[in-house]
Amino acid sequence: MKKAEDFSEWYNEIVEKANLTDKRYPIKGMNVWTPYGWKIMQAIDAHIRHEFDSTNHNEVCFPLLIPEDQFAKEKEHIKGFDAEVFWVTHAGLNPLDVKLLLRPTSETAMYPMFAIWVRSHADLPLKTYQIVNTFRYETKQTRAFIRVREIHFFESHTCHADLEDAERQVKEDYAIMARLSKKLCIPYKLLKRTEWDKFPGAFYTVGIDTLLPSGRSLQLGSIHQYKENFSKPYEIKYEDEKGEHKYVHQTTYGMSERLVGAVVALHGDDKGLVLPPDIATMQIVIIPILAKGAVDQVTEEARQLQKDLKDAGFRTHLDERDLRPGAKYYDWELKGVPLRLELGLRDMEKEQVTFVRRDTGEKSLHPRTHVVDEVRKMLSTIAGDMLDMIQKEMDANTVTVDTLDNLPGKLIKTGWCGGEDCGREIEARSNKNILGTPIDGEKFEGVCVICGKPTDKPVYLADAM
Ligand code: ZN
Repeated sequence: MKKAEDFSEWYNEIVEKANLTDKRYPIKGMNVWTPYGWKIMQAIDAHIRHEFDSTNHNEVCFPLLIPEDQFAKEKEHIKGFDAEVFWVTHAGLNPLDVKLLLRPTSETAMYPMFAIWVRSHADLPLKTYQIVNTFRYETKQTRAFIRVREIHFFESHTCHADLEDAERQVKEDYAIMARLSKKLCIPYKLLKRTEWDKFPGAFYTVGIDTLLPSGRSLQLGSIHQYKENFSKPYEIKYEDEKGEHKYVHQTTYGMSERLVGAVVALHGDDKGLVLPPDIATMQIVIIPILAKGAVDQVTEEARQLQKDLKDAGFRTHLDERDLRPGAKYYDWELKGVPLRLELGLRDMEKEQVTFVRRDTGEKSLHPRTHVVDEVRKMLSTIAGDMLDMIQKEMDANTVTVDTLDNLPGKLIKTGWCGGEDCGREIEARSNKNILGTPIDGEKFEGVCVICGKPTDKPVYLADAM
């Protein structure tokens, strides 16, 4: 299957052939993580945990079930999720007095507890996160990692004394995303969603969007400023230094297994997955090239090479299966291992190791004595090049327009005055979604594509995945 010909088919086939998830489980949209796929997800989770732990967030784990009356407290929030929740109506044979739902996200599970936990200004900021499964009844066609009904989900929830501190948190979240994107080798844009597309209950929402090869946008996550929108209905108050009771300001940051989907979609090629070195289950695979009469000698040296690399901290696999090297190359290319090391008798005589990059297919020879340093350099080069390549593709697939006629299937940038009427008209005429306005102060000089008013803010539009 060719990625360039039918992206959607290609994606499904790669996920299945690389055995990342098994969708034969008898509930649609609830897939089974296989060992290989789960290790990739866990590697991503480890980076996320590291980021949030080192910015003074504390990991928590809340119950899966939420009582209906707690869920219903914030009116916009419940309107936004009403049609998507799974309900628990019975306990054993008895109908429940208060129905329970499976969390679609955890605001309504956490905030009644935050109201108990937060007492004084000394309790603030309260910075928590959890990595749990959430449930949403998706009615659109499901797709592995990208649109599922049981979602491996990350969510941070914070409480602050005032808006200023909550805004500081949002900026810290942007910085965290910048660091994570380097690990994932995924470029993205931070786009402030429109009023009519923000998270239900949020004061504002910033989407983290990337662009798929199909020209569709994919939301990788989102960062929300809630202000006091949830703390008021949930009564999350604190006593300040003067003894006054005030509502906290809150933020959240959500990401999910879509990060795996984005890695598959953006980096994979016609041979299979291409995994970024920082999240690859195996970073290096060693293939011994066994010649007659030198089997023991090469095997022994390959094992020593694996030991040296493992001792240096690299996730290294030695493929000693009784297969031709070509068959092994095929397997590991499909699995996306970033770097293949080949070692044969000739390499040993010349005291060298052959490196083959998964991303470019490039071959190079490196001295055996410096192999650890050379591998470290090569993995770092691969990661940098992978990010650059996708960034260039994203830039090439972004077009600035001053008319909404005959739009290509790409990321579209145009002028918008910011008015809701014009915004809705843009969406109607372009038949695309407004992703939002960039928050990084991207320069723009032009006019609103609808009303012609001068504006210094562009808006991005795309077909959403
Ligand atoms: Zn306008």
